[in-house]
Amino acid sequence: METITILYIEGDGIGPYIMNASINVWNKAVDYVYSGKKKIIWKEIYAGKKALKKFGSLLPDETLNLLKAYKVGIKGPLETPVGSGHRSLNVTLRQTLDLYACIRPVKYIKGIEAPVKNPEDVDIIIFRENTEDVYAGIEWEENSKESEEIINFLKERFRIKLNKSAIGIKPISEFKTKRLMKKAIKYAIENNRKKITIVHKGNIMKYTEGAFRKWCYEVSDEFKKSLDENQIEINDVIADNMFQQLLINPKNYDILITPNLNGDYLSDAAAAQVGGIGIVPGANIGDNIALFEPTHGTAPGIKNPEMANPTSLILSGVMMLEYIGFSEAANVIRNSLEKAILEGYVTQDISKNPEKALSTKEFTNKIIEYF
Ligand code: NAD
Repeated sequence: METITILYIEGDGIGPYIMNASINVWNKAVDYVYSGKKKIIWKEIYAGKKALKKFGSLLPDETLNLLKAYKVGIKGPLETPVGSGHRSLNVTLRQTLDLYACIRPVKYIKGIEAPVKNPEDVDIIIFRENTEDVYAGIEWEENSKESEEIINFLKERFRIKLNKSAIGIKPISEFKTKRLMKKAIKYAIENNRKKITIVHKGNIMKYTEGAFRKWCYEVSDEFKKSLDENQIEINDVIADNMFQQLLINPKNYDILITPNLNGDYLSDAAAAQVGGIGIVPGANIGDNIALFEPTHGTAPGIKNPEMANPTSLILSGVMMLEYIGFSEAANVIRNSLEKAILEGYVTQDISKNPEKALSTKEFTNKIIEYF
């Protein structure tokens, strides 16, 4: 029997509810497809509130060490209080483990109500840089010693005059841009995708976002032969235009590669276009560690967490199954999930008739029934 150990973090808020229901779906699909020849061994690791309670730390070293050792994990959403000086655990995980590519496939699932006329035209993969840009965490409060020192330095050294301000730094490097572009090209070739669009705000931020564009093109020049052989086109679009392009001409776009902040905004906007962040999956992938996660947060607004939508997490698990070579199980889950949704079996967030909406468990049971 082939076994693989996968680490999981339940997450905060709705996390434990959707994680436990989803693990059941992944296990049942693996049993159904491989009849005992392949198996996943699940090992829980801790982050967020559960880790704080158990180990006195929101992100224990052991969690990072286990991810480095086992290399594949899946996590539920983790809470980050806004503006409290508390560093996002998600950002810390991505940066510490150097999970530099945030990959989000955004595709319409038939049966879901979407806010646009032709949501089925959206079928894109967003490759968002995951470790630098303004997410690098280099920022100081207004009136802090550090921000004042930087303001003084800019004045004395470059004669740049700033008001008292909070200061943030936006690093974008050639190395990190180029490795992301290489990953996007490899993905396009392996998955028969035909276009990579570089999304940037280089008209305004010439030496950061403009350089991102330039370095992506340099990589495409380097890979010209294989791009030509595979008929993959490379172009670029300015970030603000990209938002309207995605609404007006979604069919023209395939893979989008973006710096961190634009990618964050664009992923949520694209997800909303096909019916919401409750249904779109995500992966954070480095050179040899991968951490899969839903694109939504802990959903503090949901009154009953047992009614949360597990679709984004289940589909993140489908990406994970493909990553570990369990593609047949991945296909079974994707097909059954699509069938359940098409037949109107959905959770309350996307239900046209909220009284008939299914709970998390009822929905996952329906998916298993459709295998
Ligand atoms: P959110 O994604 O939690 O919620 C946004 C909206 O979508 C809410 O109306 C919520 O009820 C709904 N929603 C989200 N997921 C849903 C699901 N599975 N089923 C049904 N409805 C769903 O975003 P937020 O409110 O901005 O953030 C809440 C917390 O989550 C914050 O602490 C934030 O930092 C954290 N967060 C974590 C991650 C992550 O772990 N990767 C991502 C985003 C936000």
